[in-house]
Amino acid sequence: MNRSCPNKSCAFPLFIIRDGTFRRGEDSKMIQRFRCKTCGQRFSHATFSEFYRQKKRRINTPLLKLLASGVSQRRAAILLNVNRRTVERKFPLLARRSRNLNESYLRKFRGRIFNLQLDDLITKENSKLKPLSVSIAVDEDRRLILGAEVSQIPAFGRLSKLAIKKYGYREDQQLQGLTRLFQRLIPMVSPEVLIKSDEHQRYPGFISAYLPKSKHKQFKSERGCIAGQGELKKVQFDPLFIVNHTCAMLRANVNRLMRKTWCTTKDPRRLKDHLDIFIYFYNQELLRKTLTPI
Ligand SMILES: [Zn+2]
Repeated sequence: MNRSCPNKSCAFPLFIIRDGTFRRGEDSKMIQRFRCKTCGQRFSHATFSEFYRQKKRRINTPLLKLLASGVSQRRAAILLNVNRRTVERKFPLLARRSRNLNESYLRKFRGRIFNLQLDDLITKENSKLKPLSVSIAVDEDRRLILGAEVSQIPAFGRLSKLAIKKYGYREDQQLQGLTRLFQRLIPMVSPEVLIKSDEHQRYPGFISAYLPKSKHKQFKSERGCIAGQGELKKVQFDPLFIVNHTCAMLRANVNRLMRKTWCTTKDPRRLKDHLDIFIYFYNQELLRKTLTPI
């Protein structure tokens, strides 16, 4: 029993004894209670759970699977027979759990990643006038998603003038997003990693700053075809196939990233949460069941 007294000001927090059990009404499980012999504080196994005081624990796993399979939050609520606010509240919690599980899973591959592919996927916050960029890093050999960071960028092309008129100046935070991504990557990849990417202007600077011993190959980007939601390319051989296929998987399975969808991101933090849920499901469920994820 490696539990200790949750009372922060307790003098001997390890001096605890068993103190009966109770049946948790919500999922009919027997839960052990404890009592601290020093300060008298009573607590149980449930006190330390991530899902402490949660109702509807039964839907946690099916909800995660639905959210990683292209189902919207509202539809997931209907399918699981709960209120949509329940789904909304559980969302950040499931994301935090997925992040933790994913981090400990990826720790196994530390320093053993030799081929990396990088790309940026563009999506939007409510309106095309407020675009978001998702920077993604994928392990080419195992197809694992190593990281995805969301950053806001100003509208570009024909929409830029209208965007400034309607929403004012929008700060470009892609540099911060790429910084977060590279800081995550440094401990994971081998220093002599081979990095493949498109001709994105910002990658070379980051790669030489964070991974000075690595090799970087850039490829001209090709026109997309319909099947992969614009991510899979109309060419015989695509050197960036792995990362493009991963982006296509994101578009197909994270509802808010689909093209021509009713669902959009209202808060960039929730997009990051949704990506973390999908990355956990992809790395640890889909890739384990099939070698080629579809
Ligand atoms: Zn105590």
